[in-house]
Amino acid sequence: MRILLIEDEMEMAAWLVRALKQSHIAVEHAADARMGKALLASGTFDVVVLDLQLPDQHGFEWLRDLRAKGQHLPVLILTAQGSLQDRVQGLHRGADDYLTKPFELPELEARLVALHRRSQGRAQALIQCASLRFDSNHQTFWLRDAVLTLTPREHAALEALMGRIGAPVSKSRLAAKVFPQDSSAGPDAIEQVLHRVRRKLQGSDVHIVTVRGLGYMLEALPAAQDDHAG
Ligand code: CA
Repeated sequence: MRILLIEDEMEMAAWLVRALKQSHIAVEHAADARMGKALLASGTFDVVVLDLQLPDQHGFEWLRDLRAKGQHLPVLILTAQGSLQDRVQGLHRGADDYLTKPFELPELEARLVALHRRSQGRAQALIQCASLRFDSNHQTFWLRDAVLTLTPREHAALEALMGRIGAPVSKSRLAAKVFPQDSSAGPDAIEQVLHRVRRKLQGSDVHIVTVRGLGYMLEALPAAQDDHAG
């Protein structure tokens, strides 16, 4: 999951970026409304977390502009203004959820996951490719019946591939998911991460293939031939 956080309080933003990263949620931070628009135009995000009191534009106006462009991306408003009136107004203006500061991190995470899932519509909470399963509610991969232990980068790469089973995912898209804070991460860095993921899938019925010029693709291996047959 990839979050766009628009928040001018730097301490709060830095804490959120760090904390969500621990939960495998990638965050790009914009310190004002204008930067938020620029980031949104240049990347793919699953949910926007929007502060209301921004230095250059009120969050409600930012939200109105977003919806005016026909963008249905889920938006969670995060603000110190906790009055019922603000809450109602926010929802009327096209926010999908509302959380008042101070808040508990697990609550924010749960709401982000729920918004993301809801926005995916038909998308299932459980994605499966042969014996590899991904439980998006719990952000956990299972291989056969054991939890697959992955570093945050490996997790991000496999999640991106798992989102398009049987279709290639470009290196640049993978890089955006795996190194969201570092646009200078080169193809070699992605290759190293994928190399480690491949090793963890070794011996299973799932593999990552390189599709020349297009990127990488997760697919199930054909059922093994029985050598002793016939
Ligand atoms: Ca603010």
